[in-house]
Amino acid sequence: MDNYPGLPGITGLDLGEAMVNHAEKLGISPRREPVLSVEDEGEVKVIRTKKNHYRTKSVILACGAAHRQLGIPGEEELSGMGVSYCATCDGMFFRGKDVAVSGGGNTALEDALFLSNYCSHVYLIHRRDTFRGEKKLLEALEEKENVTFVTNSNVIRLNGDGRLTSITVKNKITGEESELAVSGLFVAIGQEPANHPFEDMIHTDEKGYFISGEECNTNVAGIFTAGDCRTKPVRQLTTAASDGAVAALQACNYIAEKQ
Ligand code: NAP
Repeated sequence: MDNYPGLPGITGLDLGEAMVNHAEKLGISPRREPVLSVEDEGEVKVIRTKKNHYRTKSVILACGAAHRQLGIPGEEELSGMGVSYCATCDGMFFRGKDVAVSGGGNTALEDALFLSNYCSHVYLIHRRDTFRGEKKLLEALEEKENVTFVTNSNVIRLNGDGRLTSITVKNKITGEESELAVSGLFVAIGQEPANHPFEDMIHTDEKGYFISGEECNTNVAGIFTAGDCRTKPVRQLTTAASDGAVAALQACNYIAEKQ
């Protein structure tokens, strides 16, 4: 698991375990089982797993969202070793270096703009020649002298022995392959929430995120949602943790009101 930027030696596993230990000390016994469905029986919610079912008064859905991956050779091995899925988290590690961004949406454009302020050179690689992202971001990028647009192209291979040193890019029209020497690749091709088991009951937007505001409510009374799986402008550890606190208090209030 990756080290957390700014916390040398601390891994996600350490943080996760510390939180579980803390919860256990408070008398909570975590169960680790994939949830197949949640059913709403009014005042009771039934959580079904493969082996068990749990009857509860309230549920917080915190399914998370995963960054979409390119699925190309080298991506898994070099993830955290030059390959990143979050420019705002990891960008500063590439100060003064040459990097690439893959994607054509707002995230890719914003990432490229952000990185262009710190990195020596930024290649923006997109599979089409028009961008899904906003015109004003594109225009701001076009003004940058250290940004090169590589359109109609896919990143097909990541190269490096233990650390990313270059990427191989293939032009979709000419079929030509070229190698770009970069120390960082920021993959910004969208995210996917893991909300599928609950989509019949909880309203989602067109991308599959639970529709919810800062109160962490859903369309079902007593079912709340927290973290990257819900509609929100910023998906980071801190905003997810904040949601966790809000959703937990909302659930407590809901249960107290029903008693
Ligand atoms: P997105 O809008 O879904 O864009 C994903 C981009 O990645 C698309 O350009 C897509 O290409 C490309 N892509 C997808 N799969 C690919 C693959 N396998 N290989 C290569 N390219 C691939 O995702 P996003 O940019 O993360 O944005 C998500 C949402 O957040 C959007 O609604 C966006 O507007 C919003 N957002 C807004 C802001 C802002 O308002 N400032 C900032 C960030 C995000 P195609 O274009 O060819 O499909």
